[in-house]
Amino acid sequence: MIKKVLVANRGEIAVRVMRSCREMGLVTVAVFSDADRKSLHVRYADEAYHIGPSPSVQSYLNIEKIIEVAKKCGADAIHPGYGFLSENKKFSQRCADEGIIFIGPSPQAISAMGDKITARKHMMKAGVPVVPGTENKITSEEEAIQTITEIGLPVMIKASAGGGGKGMRLVHKKSEIVSAIRAARSEAHTAFGDDAVYIEKYIDSPHHIEFQILADKHGHTIHLFERECSVQRRHQKVIEETPSPLLTPEIREEMGRHAVNAAKAVNYYGAGTIEFIVDDNLNYYFLEMNTRLQVEHPITERVVGVDLVKEQIRIANGEHLKLKQEELRQFGHAIECRIYAEDTNNNFMPSPGLIRHISEPLGLGVRYDGYVYEGYEIPIYYDPLISKLIVWAQTREEAIRRMRRALHEYKITGVKTSIKFLARIMDIPDFKNGTYNTHFIENNSDILFQDPYCGERCETLAIISTFIDYLDKIEMKKNEQASRNSVSNWKESGKRKALRN
Ligand code: ADP
Repeated sequence: MIKKVLVANRGEIAVRVMRSCREMGLVTVAVFSDADRKSLHVRYADEAYHIGPSPSVQSYLNIEKIIEVAKKCGADAIHPGYGFLSENKKFSQRCADEGIIFIGPSPQAISAMGDKITARKHMMKAGVPVVPGTENKITSEEEAIQTITEIGLPVMIKASAGGGGKGMRLVHKKSEIVSAIRAARSEAHTAFGDDAVYIEKYIDSPHHIEFQILADKHGHTIHLFERECSVQRRHQKVIEETPSPLLTPEIREEMGRHAVNAAKAVNYYGAGTIEFIVDDNLNYYFLEMNTRLQVEHPITERVVGVDLVKEQIRIANGEHLKLKQEELRQFGHAIECRIYAEDTNNNFMPSPGLIRHISEPLGLGVRYDGYVYEGYEIPIYYDPLISKLIVWAQTREEAIRRMRRALHEYKITGVKTSIKFLARIMDIPDFKNGTYNTHFIENNSDILFQDPYCGERCETLAIISTFIDYLDKIEMKKNEQASRNSVSNWKESGKRKALRN
């Protein structure tokens, strides 16, 4: 039985995982890099261990060091969160070899789904529809030209090892194919050490809709419905919601069945996500499987009423999944906004730095998963995600109003954030009507990236905002003075823990 969990991650997801562990009475262990000494996950955990310098290859991706710490502190399980080592089959295998429970799928399942070409083959065998395209990796430019003649333009060149939108190229003209393949290969080689690429038909005006699945080690697999993730920037999700405004009950049921079959096809256990791309006529195709907890998992937790991290831990423990498909329902509507430290008006340039002031939104139906606090310095080394703001309401319309209200309450000074950009989205007709696809941000760029959004009120608001900033600065000076003489609770608990090196 799992008693002590090491969380091999940082930031908001490490804190979120530890919260569930604590509710289950499990001891939590944090690991941290040089840059993360003062991070909330370190302060939150029962124990914290330093694992190396700030760059993630030397810390959060250092398998040997993390295993060494787990053995030293007597952790019987490791939760990898998302990103970093969460989809690394070597890490999952290494845990198994050392007798440590990996809270995630088997190395075989990670391997089967980690490579997109292999995953597509598994899906075709299981009868899950895949995007039309090549069955194997592209070995010559002639072969690529032959393929596009067969399936027609436009096409996507995609890296088989791809992730995070890297190694992907959209091709509209035959003349672009050779350079697109070269560019995708080179990007894939640099990012993943594997330059295998394949071709997929480009689905016009697509929707990204994914299904959450849970499977135990005894063959019981269920889905927990969908998440609509079509508000994207550069193929990366910005806002997610559930239920999807696009799906009909019939298509939802069909896709859910395919998602369960997809997981069963690779003997999957744990939590996972089957991603589909869906066209306007509700034709859907398997895109990929993520063999881990997703960033956007809280909206499913809220609408279905399940703690996915607790379920992951129970499954890893070998327990039977108690949830039954026929008993699961989607109740109400949930939306998540990803809040980044970035300058949305300057090509989304990351904006790390000192958080001078933060006040998080509260109130009915608001969940806040974050990790920064006043006086915390967001490091330059990692993804600049500050928090996830999740709202729930009985209807979609009310959820949008609630998200708008919550975003307006949310104040951060010291770094630039995407809060205002997200608030604007709540007012855009395509979003409000639920008639958007993955081109939403580019289609609405005139509203999203220009100040006239404020209309006539803009000038007045600008003056008020300058005045508020001025008052904030005076307040901050006072606080800085005061904090020299006192220590915050977080700082205090951090000291008590006397970080072990
Ligand atoms: P990654 O693993 O890098 O995140 P995915 O295969 O999950 O890549 O695709 C990410 C996004 O790229 C999708 O959500 C979608 O917006 C776009 N995309 C991927 N494949 C296609 C396709 N065949 N047609 C249209 N858009 C696509």
